[in-house]
Amino acid sequence: MNPKDINLPGYEIPEELKHVIAITALDRLYNWGRRSSVWPLMFGLACCAIEMIATQAARYDLARFGMEVMRPTPRQADLMIVAGTVTKKMVPAIVRLYNQMPEPKYVLAMGACASSGGPFKEGYNVVAGIDKFLPVDVYVPGCPPTPQALINGLILLQKKIDKESIKQVRWYRKGPDSVAIPIPVLGPDLIDTRRIPDIKAHTLSSTSKTDDQS
Ligand code: SF4
Repeated sequence: MNPKDINLPGYEIPEELKHVIAITALDRLYNWGRRSSVWPLMFGLACCAIEMIATQAARYDLARFGMEVMRPTPRQADLMIVAGTVTKKMVPAIVRLYNQMPEPKYVLAMGACASSGGPFKEGYNVVAGIDKFLPVDVYVPGCPPTPQALINGLILLQKKIDKESIKQVRWYRKGPDSVAIPIPVLGPDLIDTRRIPDIKAHTLSSTSKTDDQS
């Protein structure tokens, strides 16, 4: 570790001890460790995934961010890069993978499709953004975003991690934030089970209106 990376200003260390002592805050050390070893989950959904693959290749070299290890299992991944069109058929699998990732975990929506549905927004089979189901930390615009844009998104994620505090992060707290996201049900359409009370209320009100008219 380079002491310049973690030393806090205002705490001067005697010259003769500078090579053996570093003074820092626990948050800074903790965040430094996590921001420098974010392992992405290895999966892609459509054309944006090709740019994600290019970002991992030698020309752009994510190893300098400590992110070169793409894990084929969610159990060992910290970051889900949703790269491509999110179809309704894929959403239950994506949510299941997210639930299987251990905390701390982050989500990056790569490209117009993952952020908002993109050119397929009105499509019968497409979800208008993965943020309808998962908490997205960083959005990367573009169709497709270039590798440079993805790298910028990853740097933004690092900046976000830098601001976290060990006393407030959700994975050390009890409460609704730590609860797994219910897997959506794919039938004739995709149903978000969290919205079943709304769907029931809407159905009942439409039925009563029809009864009144007849
Ligand atoms: S945003 Fe564009 S490049 Fe990316 S998956 Fe959608 S259509 Fe393909």
